[in-house]
Amino acid sequence: MSIWFEKFLNLLFPPKCPLCRKRVREHEFCEACRRNFPQKSIQRSLPIVKKEKKLRTVCVVPYEGAYRKAVQRFKFSNKKVYGYAMTKVMAEASADLKMKFDAICFVPISKKRKRQRGYNQSELLAALIGKSLTVPVLPLLIKVRENEIQHELPAEKRVENVKNVFAAKGTAKGLKLLLIDDILTTGATLSACTEELFRAGADEVCGLCFADTSRSKAMR
Ligand SMILES: [Zn+2]
Repeated sequence: MSIWFEKFLNLLFPPKCPLCRKRVREHEFCEACRRNFPQKSIQRSLPIVKKEKKLRTVCVVPYEGAYRKAVQRFKFSNKKVYGYAMTKVMAEASADLKMKFDAICFVPISKKRKRQRGYNQSELLAALIGKSLTVPVLPLLIKVRENEIQHELPAEKRVENVKNVFAAKGTAKGLKLLLIDDILTTGATLSACTEELFRAGADEVCGLCFADTSRSKAMR
């Protein structure tokens, strides 16, 4: 999008803070909301079934309250513009992983779901993070089987539900990869994707999401 067209759109639809809906100059979180962000990113180390390695993940906020509402509007109410604000803080938080990445990849959705929703929210986040970190985005993963929607299942069924659902296409040989998704819940999806990336030859995989449910009381 050209900068003039973007300015024109901003005049027509003034950007609002995704959390408090106050008007802001650019698509970002307002200063007051930024001050309320957790001081430290939420870090986890997730087990991977077929590897001795662990998957280190970094998330920016807990999945609750206004953060949760903003993610839901981004994901289900076509508020794609929220991706700008979300990825700005995600790109900053990626520094906590202390790794130089060769490429960025994202959790895929099926063609059918992409058609229904119009976009893959993780792909959108990955594209913007790639731009801001100047790291190429590689669509290394595909969804080979439609499964039940993860967040509608109890935790104990989620590992089973993502089995043989994802596959890596092409090679990821020797690459240090940053894997993007919007929400981190049990980690079953990210772990399944990571295993496929290791199978395709990846050297290292770390996860980066906007929100983490493990700190949210509502999701426990
Ligand atoms: Zn705000």
